[in-house]
Amino acid sequence: MPSNTAARHNRTRQLQQRDAAHHLHPFTDFQDYAAHPGRIISRAEGVYIEDSDGNRILDGMSGLWCCNLGYSQPRIVEAVRQQLATLPFYNNFFQCANEPAVNLAARLVDMTPANFNRVFFTNSGSEANDTNLRLVRRYWDLLEQPQKRIVLSRANAYHGSTIAAASLGGFDFVHRQFETLPYVHHIAQPYWFKEGGELSPADFGLRAARDLERTIDELGEDNIAAFIAEPIQGAGGVIVPPESYWPEVHRILSERDILFISDEVIFGFGRSGELFGWQSYGTAPDLITFAKAVTNGFQPLGGVLLGDRVADVLTAAGGEFGHGFTYSGHPAACAAALATLDILEREQLVDRVADDIGPYLQRRWRELAGHPIVGETRGRGMVAALELVRDKQTRQRLEDGGKAGAVCRQFCLDSGLVMRAVGDAMIIAPPLVCSHGELDLLIERAGRALDLTAHHYGI
Ligand code: PMP
Repeated sequence: MPSNTAARHNRTRQLQQRDAAHHLHPFTDFQDYAAHPGRIISRAEGVYIEDSDGNRILDGMSGLWCCNLGYSQPRIVEAVRQQLATLPFYNNFFQCANEPAVNLAARLVDMTPANFNRVFFTNSGSEANDTNLRLVRRYWDLLEQPQKRIVLSRANAYHGSTIAAASLGGFDFVHRQFETLPYVHHIAQPYWFKEGGELSPADFGLRAARDLERTIDELGEDNIAAFIAEPIQGAGGVIVPPESYWPEVHRILSERDILFISDEVIFGFGRSGELFGWQSYGTAPDLITFAKAVTNGFQPLGGVLLGDRVADVLTAAGGEFGHGFTYSGHPAACAAALATLDILEREQLVDRVADDIGPYLQRRWRELAGHPIVGETRGRGMVAALELVRDKQTRQRLEDGGKAGAVCRQFCLDSGLVMRAVGDAMIIAPPLVCSHGELDLLIERAGRALDLTAHHYGI
């Protein structure tokens, strides 16, 4: 082994030991992590990440659904640098504002349909969803309907990790680890492959949507404040709902006096081929949660876009809204977002997803449906998923307990591809800037990982 390679490996081992000894990671089995040290990611370029041993890996997940423009964006870096040199921090409390926050608020409003005219900034998607609960509660209080308290969400949703956001989320194993908010209720999810049984996707989509109607009727419209949903459940497994689902949900909500929160933390800023995912499905949110891709993941920033229905009530009322974060509207994060939105618009990336790279990914991804262990492929724009099975007809899994995904994920990494596993679903959300050639490579590596997985299970 050449000495510089040996030195690199030693450095990696050292970092891994320190990491295992002192660093508790998000959504990680601590006992397992101690036994299996993590990969240290040291650099990134274009749509590739590189680990501390020098392995270059195609990033099929855009970081954590956030680096939509890839990792090489010097204009964002420069915008942050300049902002740090001019005004590295000042808060937006106590009758103050800073220029990037003001400009970003106006810019977001400009990009969003006309009935959205106000923004509240946070540092993350979780905080933005906490903020949503505060906004919704204040709205109904101001309208003298304080009994409207219940917030509906969906099984297997992901809305973040604060107490409020994790209560909104629909992961049972997470709920068992803390006291969830008592006023959050969960309804069915539109996951046809897992739960559709003998129903057609269209019938199943209607049934899942009507669980919303049934729950509202059962709990009482007068008691329900809001319904929150992602356009496509991301972390739950890229669950693309049947075409019948959103029109029916839209009908149910439009007949009732309930606020709709579209959580656009993953789909905001182009991933579905529209600026926001709800625009791909024709729904009409009152509040929009955003985060992640707004800064291309280069700075932490999230927030809520408020429709006039809510904003007009809140801004017409006197009395302080007792909510906010030290870094709400952080100047460097807002500068990163402004530069990100410049690039998104200048390179017409939303249109590119709709007309070119999105359809290309979907076409190539669906070729994987012919693989012996793929039970379904699905996707929209620049997200996609496939289901690992032993038997395509019965949808029987490769092994019990949703463990095959982790096996396949490891084969993906060994093949030079980051693909995520959610139980037995393999999911991707590649950068919107991927070239056709890079997507070809993604498909080739995914195919190789599927072959290795099949071989592992004796198929
Ligand atoms: N909502 C959705 C739909 C998400 O996917 C996520 C994060 N993956 C969040 C909220 C939480 O965002 P954050 O991790 O920035 O708090």
